[in-house]
Amino acid sequence: MNRLADRVALITGGSRGIGRATADCFAAEGAAVALVDLHEDTGQEAAQAIQAQGGQAVFIQADVTDPEAMQEAAATTHDALGGLDILVNNAGITRDATVRKMTEDAFDQVIDVNLKGVYNATKAVIPYLVDQQYGRILNAASVVALYGNFGQTNYVASKAAVIGMTKTWARELGRKGITVNAVAPGFISTDMIGSVPDKVLDTFRDKTPLQRLGVPVDIANAYLFLASEEASFITGTVLSVDGGLVL
Ligand code: NAD
Repeated sequence: MNRLADRVALITGGSRGIGRATADCFAAEGAAVALVDLHEDTGQEAAQAIQAQGGQAVFIQADVTDPEAMQEAAATTHDALGGLDILVNNAGITRDATVRKMTEDAFDQVIDVNLKGVYNATKAVIPYLVDQQYGRILNAASVVALYGNFGQTNYVASKAAVIGMTKTWARELGRKGITVNAVAPGFISTDMIGSVPDKVLDTFRDKTPLQRLGVPVDIANAYLFLASEEASFITGTVLSVDGGLVL
């Protein structure tokens, strides 16, 4: 309890799935949370659910692909919640197709959200973290960034690039008291994998030593650890949370 007391976290894609579980988990540990997402209905509902539990939460409607909107989201978080200490770059999308069938649009959309969105949100938050010489930046990578995955040229490229940015920012920002880490989830039961055929998910389950798919709180707990004081000497790392899956 209270491992994030007095901390303020901005979580992109916080209205559902892993982002929402992370917001719930951080709020339960004493953080005030800003849920930044495209979807107002689910976002407001998620923030209200945290408030109903006695937590502090706001929803901010913003698109991570819009740099100005992300700067406004960071400023609103800081003003509304009295600070800004932790960024969870969680918003992400898939537009799967084999390389032969992938459209330019599908490639660009995924790069724009999963890669440029992480850059935009981080650029917006960094001035606050540098000012106070403290911060935690947590990036959503994926196990597929480490092994590749059939039908995911765009997504794998975006997540591999996020790992590269994580290591670069860890080097650049360490002397400012800011740690930067990535989490590489395996297959987690959320809407995102709703389009993956059951047969394929069964194969992944079989290849997972722990013999199950992940659930959002598995990833939220990894973010919690990396955001907590216990992880103060960890930076530039990629933590796989995948039940031991090797693709
Ligand atoms: P999800 O689809 O359930 O939720 C993603 C959230 O991001 C949604 O609320 C969506 O509205 C939001 N979002 C999408 N585009 C946005 C934008 N442009 N601006 C703001 N918000 C936006 O996905 P999830 O499964 O919870 O995944 C969360 C993160 O974890 C993603 O980055 C994903 O790539 C990564 N991940 C997921 C899995 C998995 O198996 N589910 C595995 C590895 C990595």
